[in-house]
Amino acid sequence: MDDCIFCKIIKGEIPSFKVYEDDQVFAFEDINPISPGHTLVIPKNHTENIWDISEQDLMAVQSASKKIARAIKEALKIDGIACMQLNGRAAHQEVMHYHLHLVPRKADGPPLPITSWKIKPGNMDEIKEHAEKIRAALK
Ligand code: AMP
Ligand code: ZN
Repeated sequence: MDDCIFCKIIKGEIPSFKVYEDDQVFAFEDINPISPGHTLVIPKNHTENIWDISEQDLMAVQSASKKIARAIKEALKIDGIACMQLNGRAAHQEVMHYHLHLVPRKADGPPLPITSWKIKPGNMDEIKEHAEKIRAALK
């Protein structure tokens, strides 16, 4: 998909803070993080939502998310992770390329927004640092 922002990220046409990549999956930091270490896990095949994604891509995303979730927990010393995945405008999906949000949670953190959260740009230096820590924990 030529005009898909996440396809462009996979191809390296738009910069990203990558934390993980394999043949089927790409994962990078959300630049408007709900919490530090907020990571997006996406299939490399352009596919819009849970209705369109192939079982193989879905399994690959889930399997990678398990590895990445372990790395986030270890790297950022968090207490929990919310796995969130929105489908369709009615569910507030903004980017129409399937993505699983991994949102780190601290026990004393603010309430978790479910489908509509305020987009607030993150600090790029901090996001880069989180990506580096998660990447290191994946090795
Ligand atoms: P959703 O509402 O589930 O479609 O969420 C889309 C997410 O993609 C939002 O959390 C955005 O902050 C995030 N996002 C959009 N553009 C980029 C980008 N260029 N790099 C990283 N994250 C992005
Ligand atoms: Zn795409």
